Amino acid sequence: MKRSIISALAATALLLSGCGGDETRDYNPSISPEERAQAEQQHPQLLAEFGGAWDGPEAAYVKQLGETLAGAAGLADQCTFTMVNTDVVNAFAVPGCYIYLTRGLVGIVNSEAELASVIGHEIGHIVAEHSQRRQRRGIWSGLGALAVGVVSGSQTLANMAGRAAQVYTLSYSRKQEYESDDLGIRYLAQAGYDPYAAADMLESLADHDTYQAQTRNLDEANAIPAWARSHPLTADRIKRANEKAEGTGHGPDVLPDHEDRFLRQVDGLLWGDDPEQGYVLGRRFVHPGMGIQFEAPEGFFLTNSPRAVLIDGGEVRGQFGGAAMPPGGLEAYVEALLREVLGKAANQARIGQAQRTRVNGVETIVVPATVQGQQGQAQITVAAFQGRGREGFHFITAGASGSESAISSLIGSFRLLAPAEAAGLKPRRIRVVTVGQGDTIALMSRRMAVADHHIEAFLMLNDRDPKPELRPGEKVKLIVQA
Ligand SMILES: [Zn+2]
Repeated sequence: MKRSIISALAATALLLSGCGGDETRDYNPSISPEERAQAEQQHPQLLAEFGGAWDGPEAAYVKQLGETLAGAAGLADQCTFTMVNTDVVNAFAVPGCYIYLTRGLVGIVNSEAELASVIGHEIGHIVAEHSQRRQRRGIWSGLGALAVGVVSGSQTLANMAGRAAQVYTLSYSRKQEYESDDLGIRYLAQAGYDPYAAADMLESLADHDTYQAQTRNLDEANAIPAWARSHPLTADRIKRANEKAEGTGHGPDVLPDHEDRFLRQVDGLLWGDDPEQGYVLGRRFVHPGMGIQFEAPEGFFLTNSPRAVLIDGGEVRGQFGGAAMPPGGLEAYVEALLREVLGKAANQARIGQAQRTRVNGVETIVVPATVQGQQGQAQITVAAFQGRGREGFHFITAGASGSESAISSLIGSFRLLAPAEAAGLKPRRIRVVTVGQGDTIALMSRRMAVADHHIEAFLMLNDRDPKPELRPGEKVKLIVQA
């Protein structure tokens, strides 16, 4: 039944957008107070999902640039621009003109005009009201039906099922992408930037996607909802963007790109995961500050957020978190956790025998519980670990029966890091350097603090091809260990 409603909507969208042919339609954009209020309400949850607001100097720069583009689009003082602290390369727009750009995306940009083109494109989605026509589909809807359906009143389980995560996994249609490209390019030129930067930026995003596929394991690539996933990239989009730039009447490189201004801003920007939040490395989660790590079983995806690490294993969902150890010790910690997890359903739940054990030398309590609902049984497992000092850590998992071995493998992988291991996980930053006499791509690439694919990483970061070689005096970005 859902499907037929969606295709009817899609057909309407096609009819509507079909009227204007290939010409960019004119809009009279305005943001309704209702939309803005709704976006404002969602804002804290989106921030939580995306690592929180980035508060480095780059954030103010993004806001200011955003406001310039909003002005060009006829939306002056009506939008809210936020840079979020995640290394995922993405940008998205929420109705109400709340626009989010990730730290990872800012890192791969090479000029102010390119960054402006991403912002212009997102404003285009707002102006043309594309989100309102998108298909609502959540990556985490499966467990929602299972756990939230049976266990009411538990905020933890509701969060595990995920809601805000929906927004960035939605994808636009090709037609909508084209329209946003066109609107974005128009705003770019109106704001006084080289409109050809839009095509350059699309190329950078495509290169980043290829680089990701080359260097990350497939599990991780699938787990990360990147820009290329929500804004489908096609080869002719880049060609088209160049044609549209020509259509603005400006020749290439006539209007400025402001490369230097951008590179000054991005010099020193954190690259990769924030050590304050811990690192997701494939199926591994490592937190040097807390001195802990665990590894999820094959086929699981981990997503880091400031509140918790979200664990998605299809049939099994869960989260990993930590808290101060209460005076009552590990028993009190587990009891508090169970109360929080089961919520109002505690009366209907069958709580199993608590097992006290040691996992890799760490004092551990595991408590299984079963909750009966209309759609079957949900197995809830709570495992708590005694950390160093007065810290506790825990897993909360929910899954259908048959997922026990995956859950015990997850719990069994928890361990404390040796101090030397923790010290080895230093943060990385972008460093802008000037190419010297005799510097080649191969030589510069060797200075990149990446595990492998040094040359590919250098070319991706700087949006370059292997040829031509570097020129002395030009500026390039490197990733260095801070
Ligand atoms: Zn888009």
